Amino acid sequence: MNKNYYFKNIPKVDTLLKEERIQALCRIYGKGSVTEAIREELDHLRALVRTGTEEEITDEFERFTEELPGKIEEASRFPLRKVINATGIILHTNLGRAPLGNLQGEALFQTMGGYTNLEYDTETGKRGKRWEHYADLIASVTGAEGAAAVNNNAAAVTLMLSALTKGKEVIVSRGELIEIGGHFRIPEVMEQSGARLREVGTTNRTRISDYEEAITEETGALLKVHTSNYKIIGFTEETSIEELVELGEKYHLPVLVDAGSGVLVNLEQFGLAHEPTVQEMLKKGADIVTFSGDKLLGGPQAGIITGKQKYINEMLKHPLMRALRLDKCTIAALTATFREYLNENNAIEHIPVLWMLSRKSDELKQQAQELCAALKNTGVSGEFAVEPSISMMGGGSLPAEEIPSFAVTIKPAGMSCDEMAERMRKMSVPVIAYTKNGRVWFDMRTVTAGEVHELKCELTMLLGESFSGERVWESNPPRTRLTPNTGFEDQGAHQLPNHAHITY
Ligand SMILES: *Cc1c(COP(=O)(O)O)cnc(C)c1O
Repeated sequence: MNKNYYFKNIPKVDTLLKEERIQALCRIYGKGSVTEAIREELDHLRALVRTGTEEEITDEFERFTEELPGKIEEASRFPLRKVINATGIILHTNLGRAPLGNLQGEALFQTMGGYTNLEYDTETGKRGKRWEHYADLIASVTGAEGAAAVNNNAAAVTLMLSALTKGKEVIVSRGELIEIGGHFRIPEVMEQSGARLREVGTTNRTRISDYEEAITEETGALLKVHTSNYKIIGFTEETSIEELVELGEKYHLPVLVDAGSGVLVNLEQFGLAHEPTVQEMLKKGADIVTFSGDKLLGGPQAGIITGKQKYINEMLKHPLMRALRLDKCTIAALTATFREYLNENNAIEHIPVLWMLSRKSDELKQQAQELCAALKNTGVSGEFAVEPSISMMGGGSLPAEEIPSFAVTIKPAGMSCDEMAERMRKMSVPVIAYTKNGRVWFDMRTVTAGEVHELKCELTMLLGESFSGERVWESNPPRTRLTPNTGFEDQGAHQLPNHAHITY
């Protein structure tokens, strides 16, 4: 074999860069990163020419240009990227909890594009405060006197206890000593913040008299923790916020509430059980209520602190605040989120978490039927059906609620469900589904209309490959860029968001 012949025929970087498909990738990922990926592939090719057999080498030469765009794409993708969540779990912790919508995404893009007035008062030309961008808005939406926000709710609880109860005893019911996961455990958070835990009552029953009997000169606050990720049922008794507020007033102690998932709308309208809202808790007189930004609120990861201004002020001037403060991107997305809540209908329409919760069975069934029919039409192998399924809130919220939904279920031919799941995870836009009764289930509640198209293309390719050994798609699978669209219009394949002035 004449190796020199092959060495001479190895394509040049510059020639490859001129190809149309490669140029398209340069526009998406940048020329630098694409060139880097090409060099790497050429190195592999050279190594093969050095060590491979003639058959291996000719094979590779034949495939090289055809497969190059796919390989570049794989190498250029961000490690953190879009996936399709077909699990039906709305706040999937491993999939980033609350997905952001169009308006939230817009706000983020705008803020990332250049300088901002983050700590600059454009009225006076003097230094401003970053929380002035959102504090009044959060207060007015929740009906609180004041508001602040930090990195997440774990940080909010830590800051609250550090600023208000350091060195004091904090009374908590034994039924509310929760662990959220990720090492957030009330007793440990308390220890970190320098407060002393004084547990009262029992796991299933705690009365107001239990709290009262535990109050001493050492007491700094009464803490109520919303047991958002489990339910105690049966012979139970829980002390209400009203009772705690009455007791707090009697002994001049603040009543602090870790509300966890932080609902701002009445969940009964979605056919779920009533979950106390943040507004209700504040109205009942809670001094401080903290909650997550990326659970039921449907915003970015953040911890929201609402309540009496004098306590909020204590937190704002605490040294921890500097370590836990929000960055400008979060401020932008959080502000956009709360703005939607000024009108509840807007919130339900534009915030993906609420929109997904509000989707009706008929709509989900129709979406499943359309996807199922489209898959059958492509002629790929496998059994396809539409079946009723169960969605969950997830994220440690509403643990007892089963939300009826519809799914497309597939029994793949020529591979097991596990194999199919694995291959779906490796696709251009990974698809996360679940396996039950020997079939792979794609729950429609968490799949947007735009994603259905993408899902169809990806599944067609995957199932088509397995039965004919050939790609159904000639080029790379169609892919959608970040689509922070809660109208969820399909932005189409290979289309960049219209922010040409921004360098990513
Ligand atoms: C989720 C949760 C937390 C932690 O909130 P993060 O925003 O995840 O830090 C704390 N307390 C309760 C009751 C929760 O449900």
